[in-house]
Amino acid sequence: NMKLDTNALRYLTKEDFRVLTAVEMGQKNHEIVPSSLVDTIAGLKHGGTFKCLKLLLRNKLVHHDNSKYDGYRLTYLGYDYLAIKALVNRGVISSVGRQIGVGKESDIFEVMNDEGQVMALKLHRLGRTSFRAVKSKRDYLQKGSHFSWLYLSRLAAVKEFAFMKALADHALSVPQAIDHNRHAVLMTLVAARPLAQVRELGNPRRVYTQLMEMLGTLAGLGLVHCDFNEFNVLISDTEELTLIDFPQMVSVAHPNARELFERDVECVVRFFTKKLGYVPERDEALEVIRPGFQEVVAVALSNVDQQLRASGFRLEHQNVLERFLDTSVGGGLGSKAAHSEDDSSLEEAGMHGVDGSSSSSSSRGEHATTHLAGDVALASAAMQDG
Ligand code: ADP
Ligand code: MG
Repeated sequence: NMKLDTNALRYLTKEDFRVLTAVEMGQKNHEIVPSSLVDTIAGLKHGGTFKCLKLLLRNKLVHHDNSKYDGYRLTYLGYDYLAIKALVNRGVISSVGRQIGVGKESDIFEVMNDEGQVMALKLHRLGRTSFRAVKSKRDYLQKGSHFSWLYLSRLAAVKEFAFMKALADHALSVPQAIDHNRHAVLMTLVAARPLAQVRELGNPRRVYTQLMEMLGTLAGLGLVHCDFNEFNVLISDTEELTLIDFPQMVSVAHPNARELFERDVECVVRFFTKKLGYVPERDEALEVIRPGFQEVVAVALSNVDQQLRASGFRLEHQNVLERFLDTSVGGGLGSKAAHSEDDSSLEEAGMHGVDGSSSSSSSRGEHATTHLAGDVALASAAMQDG
């Protein structure tokens, strides 16, 4: 549990941010960025870089590493600062408030804009809880390749933002995606709590049915959520539902899609049975107990193809991300199909210089082969109009 101390945001100078950004840029090619390279990128006169580095280090925004050579890398806090600063500069937020959620691989904060509107900021922290897993996967996948948590967290945020927009466009109840930068996703704050905190429902049948419909709608769009459970469904006092948490979603064309779908369904059934004492199997008035994967998907695959033809989403991004998230039923490694693309995706989806905001949508068509499914098309659509 990390506190996000944003005090220093106020007194850091333009030069400090310039140096912080230089470290970020250097990390594109170095796990630890040589001080001399930071200095070159920052281009400050009279040893200014080193003064700034000292201050950044004191504020825990960078980490100093002397083991091989004199160098620096960003800390999570440093990356947080860059993202928050960019959002502040854009005028979408003006202050950071209390932490409202600690997920497995994210921290969520209340943030505010100048008009006093409160929103939710999700900072992805891939590799926080499972750094060793990430590392061993990385080692397994490509010797010497530089897969930083910055890169992975950024990919997760890009994907989550794109999906949140796309799902809203398809009438799913999700938070409204407002903006994103680096590993941060800005969205509306939902006035609801996780279903996990609820022990009694006014209308369990209605809520249960809506959840099954959501799963069906997603599958109909070509998607499996893969973490559809009582922690990722928010429920309001009037029992309105909002689905959250999308970085692990996969396409229905994923080799494990069926099992993943059924696992999602099972999670809901189990929660209702064990925690709420509502047993779907015993409710004769219930229309669908468990939606069948084939039936809900059948409709989708044909029109997904069409969407794909117009899409330029980067398959390799999805592949890279999938490998690091737990999308395989057995918890093992995901598809190895995209090895050779790791380098280019790292290059292209990695940190894009100073404001780091670009979610590329350029390479039109070349990855859009027909075996892809809806998630890719949706994300692409969202990226292109975003
Ligand atoms: P993780 O991927 O780490 O599980 P989540 O997106 O599930 O992160 O968010 C973690 C917790 O933060 C949620 O369980 C919920 O309590 C809270 N939360 C996340 N997004 C919102 C939001 N838009 N509005 C209100 N609460 C939210
Ligand atoms: Mg969650």
